[in-house]
Amino acid sequence: MCSVFATCPQPPPLAAPAPDRPRYVVTVRVARSFGSVSGRVVVTFTPNRPTDRLVFRLWPNGPPQLKAGSRLDAGPVAGFRVTRPDPTTLVVHLRSPLAAGSHVTVAVPWRLRMPRTHIDRIARFRDGIRLGTFLPLLAWDDRRGWLLDPPARLLAESAATPAADFDVHVAAPRGFRVVATGVPYGGDRFRARAVRDLALAVGHFRLQTTHAGAVTVTVASTELTKRREAAFLADARRALQSLSARYGTYPWRTYTIVVPPDLPTVGIEYPTLSFIGRSRFDRLVVDHETAHQWFYSLVGNDQARDPWLDETLATWGQSRLGSPEFPPVQSVPEFAARHVGAPMTYWDRHPSWYFYGVYGEGVKALHMLGDSAAVDCALRHYVARRAYTIAQPGDLLDELNRFIPGAERRLRAWGIRR
Ligand SMILES: [Zn+2]
Repeated sequence: MCSVFATCPQPPPLAAPAPDRPRYVVTVRVARSFGSVSGRVVVTFTPNRPTDRLVFRLWPNGPPQLKAGSRLDAGPVAGFRVTRPDPTTLVVHLRSPLAAGSHVTVAVPWRLRMPRTHIDRIARFRDGIRLGTFLPLLAWDDRRGWLLDPPARLLAESAATPAADFDVHVAAPRGFRVVATGVPYGGDRFRARAVRDLALAVGHFRLQTTHAGAVTVTVASTELTKRREAAFLADARRALQSLSARYGTYPWRTYTIVVPPDLPTVGIEYPTLSFIGRSRFDRLVVDHETAHQWFYSLVGNDQARDPWLDETLATWGQSRLGSPEFPPVQSVPEFAARHVGAPMTYWDRHPSWYFYGVYGEGVKALHMLGDSAAVDCALRHYVARRAYTIAQPGDLLDELNRFIPGAERRLRAWGIRR
């Protein structure tokens, strides 16, 4: 079917990050053995509605990561009473309620025990480590307040955190290189503006860089041939430029692909940084993870409640760059077909069908709308309006309805609801 659009109407300007977003100052000390990492998080928080507590999520204590050997201890928090209702939640009780627009600063010491190895976001590999969602992080949503989703058993990806500023100082063992979310400013210090999480890696990385407009694109790897490094760099640059043209300009100054020695065919997305495994699917994984810079990183979502909102859209973005979609499956069981909008608690019960049910079926649902250019146009408007926020399914449906009449009604048959 041909597109109903000659051109996509100009979207509104990209929404600005909240001026009173959280501000983190983080120290990260990496033990020479790589067996542990510790430091302090000092965060200033300004709620947009009254609250009597701060809720930090300790995602390294989710079931898959605890099982692999991770453990994050946080606290005590000087001057405040804290409680731990479950291993992934630290509540700091304020002495008096905090009014909307007023702020509080707390300092939280933390220590992370590293697993021996792990094919995930917190991992030790030969002569190095990688870390993502590894700090106590505030779980505030401007519209829903504190987010208390249970951790998923299937994947360590349950976080929903507000865009924040991070100033990070890493103390790594001598002779190792540090790469991280944000802009380096010397001495293993990094500043990241309006990002919802932080990833970093320490190892004997070799760096290769190029530019995509104003963005410095870097590939950090330990074992790639020069030729393979150059291919990763070219893929990352091309994906960043094509996705910028489609969904709005990438708004940060750096984009880093980290290729650690131990990852198989997987990618793990973080703001301004993606971990990518080595495989014959390099390009597909780079496309998918780079699309997450728009769908997860710029426009956030509750990854426990609405995992499809970033995974379906990143898979859609990858397919629009020409990378293959999810391979078709002969017979899809009823519980996996047309449950695109289901939460992680549902997919925990059907773990082997999660990828097909959310990534594969989600993209099929969007194709069913019959006009890929109109879907892209809706996504461009969705990004502009919901940038730096935690989006909800209704936000996406509003944009799809605007450009594809009846979109919401038709998507209901695929298990997608506001
Ligand atoms: Zn993904």
